[in-house]
Amino acid sequence: MLEVRRKLDVAYVVDRAGLDRKLARQAENAGAKIYLNTKLLNIRNESVFVEREGRGELLKAKILVGADGPNSLTRQIMGIQKTRSEFAHAYQVRVRGNFDPSLVSVYFGPYAKNFFGWSAPENREWARAGIATSELNVKSNFELFMTQKNLRGEYCDMCSALIPVGPPMKDIVKDNMMLIGDAAFHTKATTGGGILASINAGIAAGKTIDNYFKKKKPLKEYLNHLKPLYKELELHWKIRKYMNSYSDREIDAMFVKMKKAGVENFLEQHGDMDKPSMFVNKMIANPGMWRMLPELLKFMRS
Ligand SMILES: Cc1cc2nc3c(=O)[nH]c(=O)nc-3n(C[C@H](O)[C@H](O)[C@H](O)COP(=O)(O)OP(=O)(O)OC[C@H]3O[C@@H](n4cnc5c(N)ncnc54)[C@H](O)[C@@H]3O)c2cc1C
Repeated sequence: MLEVRRKLDVAYVVDRAGLDRKLARQAENAGAKIYLNTKLLNIRNESVFVEREGRGELLKAKILVGADGPNSLTRQIMGIQKTRSEFAHAYQVRVRGNFDPSLVSVYFGPYAKNFFGWSAPENREWARAGIATSELNVKSNFELFMTQKNLRGEYCDMCSALIPVGPPMKDIVKDNMMLIGDAAFHTKATTGGGILASINAGIAAGKTIDNYFKKKKPLKEYLNHLKPLYKELELHWKIRKYMNSYSDREIDAMFVKMKKAGVENFLEQHGDMDKPSMFVNKMIANPGMWRMLPELLKFMRS
């Protein structure tokens, strides 16, 4: 087991529905019009076909940004097909118990092939516990995880979701359509986290659209604005592929080696969940970490 304790907070447990409501209010204050209970059906040039409160309707859009999640219909309309193997299947519930709110636990095991299980405390009494796996039978894997970790929670239909796991997509602009967020694989392949990446991609999309209207710049410039984010997301993908090349037994052996090399202390000072390029470079420059050189070299070559 590796235990990393940072002096400053590095993450927040948020009320996700509350965050979405707050962002929606900000968008409305900035002039956005929000249609609830409205489902995208098709896009043809500037015509957007939707089903609104059970009835078909036609909307007009000069530019359409598909922020419609991992199963994005906009992405399909752009002619891009994704396969099941490009997603991890996640299952998460709230569990009641006795937790240390300053520690998030991450577990590797047969229940979470090519990903991990987690328990993220909301407070001393409640935590969010889940797994993500590349296997199809997420529910039975989740039950195994809950039994092994002695966790108890209520299962629900909405508890399961897909997480895109792959490099960030490059073909995210076609005609007047753009993709963003999970629809564009703007997720960290290491952890599945996509909120911060999507916010940064949103800033890039905003700049692109502004320049399109004000300076007649092409929408393809979106990719240029995304370069710093893509550098990090591609590294996350490289780390994910590297981790997936190890069996559980090999991961255990690597953790023993990491512990001996003082990785816990190193991560306490330099770890960064969002910018892995920062700590990979620092690791190479740190003589204490040279014990991990064979792994580092294998990683660089992967
Ligand atoms: C179990 C789990 C835990 C996670 N934990 C974290 C975490 O700790 N930190 C983090 O950063 N990220 C986390 N993520 C990832 C994060 O939730 C996503 O990256 C993020 O929600 C992506 O936002 P999005 O707006 O792109 O897509 P979504 O949040 O999926 O939103 C897409 C929206 O589009 C709507 N939609 C879809 N199709 C249509 C259609 N045809 N017409 C109209 N609307 C449509 C959907 O209803 C939905 O409201 C987690 C994901 C899972 C599954």
